[in-house]
Amino acid sequence: MALNGIVIAVDGPAAAGKGTLARRLAAALRLPYLDTGLLYRAVGRRVLDAGADPRDAGIAEAAARALVPADLDRADLRGPMADMAASAVAAIPAVRAALLDFQRDFGRAHGAVLDGRDIGTVVFPQAQAKLFVTASVAERSRRRFLELAGRGVAADPAQVEAEIRDRDAQDANRPVAPLRPAEDAILIDTTTLDADAAFAEALRVVRARLAQPDRAATAAAKPCR
Ligand code: C5P
Repeated sequence: MALNGIVIAVDGPAAAGKGTLARRLAAALRLPYLDTGLLYRAVGRRVLDAGADPRDAGIAEAAARALVPADLDRADLRGPMADMAASAVAAIPAVRAALLDFQRDFGRAHGAVLDGRDIGTVVFPQAQAKLFVTASVAERSRRRFLELAGRGVAADPAQVEAEIRDRDAQDANRPVAPLRPAEDAILIDTTTLDADAAFAEALRVVRARLAQPDRAATAAAKPCR
C-alpha cells in the first residue's frame, strides 16, 4: 500500500512506544519517516556543547538555526541529560518556529509519518490520520529503564520514573505547542500492548481513517498555514 502525499501524525509522551510504532507504520505504508524529537535533541546537544543553559532562548534559537542534517546522526542524542535539554529547548517558541519549516517541508515532499508532541496540533493540523500514543507512567518508566539497561547504561528505576514525570510535566505545561491530543486524534494506550499488538491496532485505525475519502481529500487540499 503506497500512499504518496499522505501525512500521518503520531504524538504522545516519552517512552510510550510511538517511535517504534511510527517507524513500522511508515514502512508498511511506504512513507518517509521523521522522528521530530531528534531535532529538539540535536538543538539541546548543541547548546550543551557550547557549555550553555538549554533554557537560554537566544543561544537555543541560534543552535536551532545552525542545525545541519549531520547533527541528527550524532550518537549522543539520548540519555537523561539529552532528554531534559531537548525538553528545555522545546519550550522556547523561537526554537519551535525555527524547526517548523523543516518538518513541514519534509512531510509535504512525499507525504510522511512524523512522530513528536505537536504534529497533529501544530505542524500538520490537517494530517489525514492522527494517533495519540500513550501508556501509564509506570509502564513507560519500565520501558525506558529496560532500554537504558539494554544500552549498558546503569540507571535507578525511581530516578528514571522521576525523569519521565518531569519531562511529561515540562512538555504538557509549556505555553507553546504543549503535549496534548489533537481533537481528532485516535488514542492508542499501549500499557498492556506489546509492540506487535500496538502496531496492528495502529495500522487498523489508520487504514480505517484513510478509507474515509471525504476526510482524506479535505486534508490533502488544505494548506498548512
Ligand atoms: O520524542 P522525544 O522523546 O525524542 O523528544 C524529545 C523532546 O523533544 C520531548 O521531551 C519534547 O520536549 C520535544 N519535542 C517536542 N515536539 C516534538 C518532538 C519532540 O516538543 N514534535
